[in-house]
Amino acid sequence: MDEGETVKAKDAMEGLTPLQEAQQIVLESTPTLGLEKISILDSLGRVLGEDIVAERDNPPWDNSAMDGFAVRWDDIKQEHAIQKPVTLTVIEDVPAGKMPSKSVGAGQAIRIMTGAPIPQGADTVLKVEDTEHTPDSVRVFKPEQQGANIRPQGEDVKKGECIIAKGTQIRPGEAGMLAILAKSFIFAYQRPRVAILSTGDELADLDERFSEEKIINSNSYGIAAAVQEAGGIPFLLGIARDTPAALKEKISHGLTADILVLSGGVSMGDYDFTKAVFHELGAEMNFWKLAIRPGQPLAFGKIQGKLAFGLPGNPVSSMVTFEQLVRPAMLKMSGHRTYGRPVVQAIFQEKFSKRTDRRHFLRGVLTREEGVFKVRTTGAQGSGMLTSMVKANCLIDIPVEVERVNPGDLVSVQLLSGEAWASHAGPIQAGGHRLSCC
Ligand code: AMP
Ligand code: MG
Repeated sequence: MDEGETVKAKDAMEGLTPLQEAQQIVLESTPTLGLEKISILDSLGRVLGEDIVAERDNPPWDNSAMDGFAVRWDDIKQEHAIQKPVTLTVIEDVPAGKMPSKSVGAGQAIRIMTGAPIPQGADTVLKVEDTEHTPDSVRVFKPEQQGANIRPQGEDVKKGECIIAKGTQIRPGEAGMLAILAKSFIFAYQRPRVAILSTGDELADLDERFSEEKIINSNSYGIAAAVQEAGGIPFLLGIARDTPAALKEKISHGLTADILVLSGGVSMGDYDFTKAVFHELGAEMNFWKLAIRPGQPLAFGKIQGKLAFGLPGNPVSSMVTFEQLVRPAMLKMSGHRTYGRPVVQAIFQEKFSKRTDRRHFLRGVLTREEGVFKVRTTGAQGSGMLTSMVKANCLIDIPVEVERVNPGDLVSVQLLSGEAWASHAGPIQAGGHRLSCC
């Protein structure tokens, strides 16, 4: 690039905030919400607001891993069993859920079910299928290792240990563990409430009769789903018409939520009043334009202490910018420790070129073929073409400074769903060449 071009590129960047800087500003402005007490049944996906410390061992006592007979190993040692099968006297039956009342003496055995506590005196459990037995006796014809088929007290959880740390997102495994630890209620971070406002005279909502010149408000619904996917509670404010008064009324209402997400009306068109209304409401704005595509017009600031995002109106732009800025803020608010999507490196399958003034997020399809991640675009990438999001399982992240990407180049890919991992098993390999900058 010669000097003249550098100056031109700088001019083009004027007023455009780089995404990484914008993300830093947003996260620095984002508080973490307080805690609330919730039932274990509502805990899936929630972020734990306390360390969960075990108040007892699990299992609470040594117990049997098999249906069989609790015996003294001395009685059934290999040399006895192989030369001459041993017959032991069965002195008690211990089903699961009952404590043994007797201890096992020399020549004795206690019938025991899986999960039942090991009786005093016994140190080994024989599997029922390795014995011949009557109600009163058991004949042992196969030796066992000393200690076999016994699950020791505390092998899973030791009393006093922190088993699930604050900041962990609850999955089914954690929910089961909470039950083992007898925690029917836990403290979790509150879920962010997100007010969603669409703006524009051209919009009609789903429950309205509308004429041909209208466009259906799809952003409110796409964004509401994105809010739910990120663990938040969406609150639809409907459509604000393109007048300062209509915008002001709706925005004021939205300030009861933790985050206000508005779409449309942030570019510099004749009917874009957002800037003026934000100002009137005392907004402290951090930026108005982002160096990404899709999604250049993007406002962020605080209004009366609440986070306010003005996303671009085009449906794809609003979803891509939500991913990059609103979602991380929501994850921070709800107590998560990391705020990004999983990222993998994949081999690009096409040719793509762009100017070097913006980071691009192409909607992509990631596959794994013979252990190697490969990615192609979903096809046409217009910011009004929501089919590109419908077809995509990832966003392909092309850095600001990269001008051309060729087949075989290695690109970073943000995963939007887990299916790319699941589809083709096999080891993951690197490969491809690094992207070169202009
Ligand atoms: P704007 O940013 O207001 O200039 O809007 C840019 C484009 O996005 C226009 O074509 C709008 O019709 C479209 N648009 C704005 N808001 C929505 C919405 N809520 N749902 C669907 N399309 C929208
Ligand atoms: Mg508009």
